[in-house]
Amino acid sequence: MYDPKSLKAEDFIDDEEVRATLEYAEANKNNEKLIDEILEKARPVPTETGCVCHGLTHREASVLLACEIPEKIERMYEIAEEIKLAFYGNRIVIFAPLYLSNYCVNGCLYCPYHLKNKNIPRKKLTQEELRAEVIALQDMGHKRLAIEAGEDPVNNPIEYILDCIDTIYSVHHKNGDIRRVNVNIAATTVENYKKLKDAGIGTYILFQETYHKKSYERLHPTGPKHDYAYHTEAMDRAMEGGIDDVGLGVLFGLELYKYEFAALIMHAEHLEAVHGVGPHTISVPRVKKADDIDPDEFDNGIDDETFIKIAACIRLAVPYTGMIISTRETEEVRAKMLRVGISQVSGASRTSVGGYTQEERPHDTEQFDVSDQRTLDEVVHWLMDSDHIPSFCTACYRAGRTGDRFMELCKSGQILNCCHPNALMTLAEYLEDYASPETKKTGYEMIERELNNIPKENVRRTAMENIEAIKNSNRRDFRF
Ligand code: SAM
Repeated sequence: MYDPKSLKAEDFIDDEEVRATLEYAEANKNNEKLIDEILEKARPVPTETGCVCHGLTHREASVLLACEIPEKIERMYEIAEEIKLAFYGNRIVIFAPLYLSNYCVNGCLYCPYHLKNKNIPRKKLTQEELRAEVIALQDMGHKRLAIEAGEDPVNNPIEYILDCIDTIYSVHHKNGDIRRVNVNIAATTVENYKKLKDAGIGTYILFQETYHKKSYERLHPTGPKHDYAYHTEAMDRAMEGGIDDVGLGVLFGLELYKYEFAALIMHAEHLEAVHGVGPHTISVPRVKKADDIDPDEFDNGIDDETFIKIAACIRLAVPYTGMIISTRETEEVRAKMLRVGISQVSGASRTSVGGYTQEERPHDTEQFDVSDQRTLDEVVHWLMDSDHIPSFCTACYRAGRTGDRFMELCKSGQILNCCHPNALMTLAEYLEDYASPETKKTGYEMIERELNNIPKENVRRTAMENIEAIKNSNRRDFRF
């Protein structure tokens, strides 16, 4: 029976409740009065210090997703952008995935790393190879990584992952360093989550793939990942292990998107109800063609328009949650997604093991081919051209502002006095150390404009001084 406070997957992602939600949404998709009320509820409300948002329940958000009235959809997009600007401003956080190992014992039908795929060479980075990958990433300008690995207790045990995290944090090449390592590895035990926490990880990311239990079991026929409850309850174990920033995601294309959407919001509600803090991020990957994988086989593929509507509805439902779009998507789709609430993008990604140290994008060990193949400098320039500040900031995590403390900052309206200057300072670091002359010119023009948007005089002055110091190669640990 549906119970968001239960720790059992079958209660907080109760199939009956998801189905009842879809029926309710279908019955009300033309109910303009209700839709207007829901839209009104989603809007940011000004307060003395900034503004607040109330978010939406899974039922309310599902009504919006079902609605096909063009003016209402347009309104959803406007509100999504309003929320995004209210809480995240025009900053976009940049990161890159780093593949450690493609050894995997699971049988996931959509993933080329599945155990039975013999076409793909298996590779696991040594610590020496990892150092070289990290240097290549630092030399592009990256400060934030998401490490990726298949599930294999023999080849990729937790000790290997922990060694890799240590190595990544230990590499400081020229002015480079990786300041936040997010981790995307298979569901594990509370004890292992504690170890990850102690190793200083940022967000623990785990995609649910699909919330539909039967489909989940069919798509994961063999290996430890077959266990739906163990996978779905992973975030509760992660939180029990002390990780308070967790990242949810659905692999869109596997199951009916309306089902996935309702369940995803229910998962967020569950985390909030039990742990007092919702997901730190939500990712929206779509299944891609890969070795031995044909996405058309899953026949639940969604077109770009629906995809963007899903992102906007997520933005309205969970206003304080960061949203991530990867290079699985084209530049065109990514540009549209930025407008409806995305707050983080990956750039210059390589999805193969050891890919960053190779001249050409290698395909042998890759998980899927990326659609956005631009360099990091091109992505940074592109963001600024559309008036987004590329941010390499990792300050919240380093200052201990994780979980509910980050959410508090988000809600306090102080982001413009905190995240905004941090974004500008880390952008200045990037411009000095890694940017092309054109990007550097555009970047400093943007910094000059954006410094004026910092409300507090003293914060603005300190940010200006720090940026001058960065220009004069006088690096300190600048952050608010
Ligand atoms: N092995 C870990 C696990 O089991 O959760 C996660 C690491 S895996 C490298 C990261 C994610 O890639 C998966 O959770 C899945 O959603 C996604 N993925 C797998 N195959 C894909 C494909 N063909 N297209 C797009 N994304 C894919």
